[in-house]
Amino acid sequence: MTDFTMTTDADGVATIVWDTVGKSMNVMNQQGFTDLDALIDQALADDAVKGVVITSGKDGSFAGGMDLNIIARMKESAGDDPARGLFEGVMGMHAILRKIERAGMDPKTNKGGKPIAAALPGTALGIGLEIPLACHRIFAADNPKAKIGLPEIMVGIFPGAGGTTRLARKLGAMGASPLLLEGKLNDPIRAKAAGVIDEVVPAADLLSAAKAWVLSEPNIVKPWDEKGYKMPGGAPYHPAGFMTFVGASAMVNGKTQGVYPAAKALLSAVYEGALVPFDTALKIEARWFTHVLMNPSSSAMIRSLFINKEALEKGANRPDTPDQKVRKVGVIGAGMMGAGIALVSALAGIQVVLIDSTQEAADKGKSYTTAYMDKGISRKKVTPEKKETVLDLITATTDYAALSDCDLIVEAVFEHPGVKAEVTAKVQVVTGPDCIFATNTSTLPISELAKASNDPEKFIGIHFFSPVDKMMLVEIIKGKQTGDVAVAKALDFVRQIRKTPIVVNDARFFYANRCIIPYINEGIRMVKEGVAPALIENAAKLVGMPLGPLQLVDETSVDLGVKIAKATKAAMGDAYPDGEVDEVLFWMFNQKRLGRKSNAGFYSYDDKGKRQGLWEGLSAQYPVADDQPDLITVQHRLLFAQALEAVRALEEGVLEDIREGDVGAILGWGFAPWSGGPFSWLDIIGTPYAAERCDQLTAQFGTRFATPDLLREMAEEGQAFYARFGAAAKAA
Ligand code: NAD
Repeated sequence: MTDFTMTTDADGVATIVWDTVGKSMNVMNQQGFTDLDALIDQALADDAVKGVVITSGKDGSFAGGMDLNIIARMKESAGDDPARGLFEGVMGMHAILRKIERAGMDPKTNKGGKPIAAALPGTALGIGLEIPLACHRIFAADNPKAKIGLPEIMVGIFPGAGGTTRLARKLGAMGASPLLLEGKLNDPIRAKAAGVIDEVVPAADLLSAAKAWVLSEPNIVKPWDEKGYKMPGGAPYHPAGFMTFVGASAMVNGKTQGVYPAAKALLSAVYEGALVPFDTALKIEARWFTHVLMNPSSSAMIRSLFINKEALEKGANRPDTPDQKVRKVGVIGAGMMGAGIALVSALAGIQVVLIDSTQEAADKGKSYTTAYMDKGISRKKVTPEKKETVLDLITATTDYAALSDCDLIVEAVFEHPGVKAEVTAKVQVVTGPDCIFATNTSTLPISELAKASNDPEKFIGIHFFSPVDKMMLVEIIKGKQTGDVAVAKALDFVRQIRKTPIVVNDARFFYANRCIIPYINEGIRMVKEGVAPALIENAAKLVGMPLGPLQLVDETSVDLGVKIAKATKAAMGDAYPDGEVDEVLFWMFNQKRLGRKSNAGFYSYDDKGKRQGLWEGLSAQYPVADDQPDLITVQHRLLFAQALEAVRALEEGVLEDIREGDVGAILGWGFAPWSGGPFSWLDIIGTPYAAERCDQLTAQFGTRFATPDLLREMAEEGQAFYARFGAAAKAA
């Protein structure tokens, strides 16, 4: 069985059908390219064939892209000289697509050649669009669910099978930039409006329309193969083109801070490619693509953001118990978190009972869904009928009896053990014996809260992040007695609401908050030391953190920081290490600079709440020292503060799977995504260097940077985290 098959009809139109064996959506692999190449050769050589239509055997989709597992391993499988091996592999791909594009034409006269059309029943992503872009005309079915585009940049690479060069030449650099640089996906109508595809036709007419076009003796010479081709919008040295490239360059650097190699390489490929003939441009694209594949960031990003993320979503760590899909969820506490949890549950088609202590508060919680759906309607993304369907799924009430047939409860009341215990007791009076009880606490130990339950095996933590509808990570926390069914229930629920789960054991602050607090604290500690706040914030951003530590405090609020500090100190007693941090934090609190919510924090805000610069008053209390540390030192302090905590979580068994540690870090708090997460980052810099650097930081700044035993041991062996703890090592 092969993924590509070809049949020729009586009119002489050969139809190549792509149908990846054993997958619901087509993905391209090495063998697929070889098979497609052979069929194209056959069609071009066969005098009975007048033209070709390439389509898909899958209902409603053309292709999802390259098999990213292959891309992630390309470097390792490219031989002793990997850059050369990769470059040659990429050039091989170009040769096949260029063969489709030239379709047997005379190279000098452009005469001859057979028309080749792409017929897309639906979604066409990555290589699934790069192949059509090499064809002479792209037809798509009017399937509004279809997504068409080149999302490669989202996983740290760029379209490297000619998509970059062809799209830039088809649309101009300006037109192509949202599609290439942001990975923007469009439905067929919008893709046609943007000029990416050529025709949208009713699904039933897709093949006949493509065949009719093939038989119409169309002009098949691509504009860039015609004499006198000019790039739309101007090539780099054209005045208009000049403006585009200067702007794009500034935009890319502004958005990526220079830490994502793919965006820069993509722009270079477009810029340099625009100055030379098409075939040379493809070669340039291949060079830059090789450059990106050789950078460890690309394989780390693919591994965390695609392969491992998907594995976790599909239940890589799910206990082997029968399906635990949620039918009806009870959400207790209709505040900020409860309202969001009700929304995402109802959006997934789950019935929701939303409870608060007053009907008014419960209704207010439900109104969050109303507002969300209304916004969707105003953006034409939601229909009024859909809004009604979703709202009908939510019952807002104060009556606990309404929970009787719920199979999952998510409690999101005030962060107070007494209040939570009272709610737990009240709920279990009305719910059935199989109902799982989850708490959304962010700081209270699960095993302690479980004491209020008469069945701790069915008690678990499901920790959402705020805002619930936007944040993709959900942290599932097992208490000491939590059973497998509860874990499976939590995982199945997270899967229903289409978020990404990690499963961790119970310990102070679980995983995500445990790692983010030292990052914030390190930033505040530097303020106390006299490091310029602008240096702290910029160092963080220049190493790929989405927010500097001081901005993060402003967003999450200084009073929350104070609350957490007090609780931690009470729990740790003399061992509490963050007195210096607290001095600054409590001082800010006393100044009533609580962060964004009070329009005053480490930053200044205008009357409308818009963030201005860093607050100048800070230096009166904490003067900026004359001697400032270098950028790398500040960055290492900020990154190691997080990464070492992740290692400790692994060492202590809070984390059981480094894939969860990496995916959770990126999705939960934005740990430098270019690195693939803290464990990937330690692998990139190498454990021997990491341990050495920790020793230096410990000598200079204190024992919080002390090299964990596990890291020390790995450094001595020259071991990498993924080699020792990755999925392959686990399976072995
Ligand atoms: P919130 O104050 O916005 O909402 C709490 C809601 O619970 C209020 O509407 C309150 O009326 C209701 N409530 C209190 N006691 C109740 C009772 N006995 N019965 C029914 N309803 C009751 O708080 P929130 O920010 O939504 O946080 C809720 C929980 O989620 C807390 O445990 C918090 O730690 C956790 N959490 C919060 C965040 C966050 O960023 N805010 C993130 C993750 C987890």
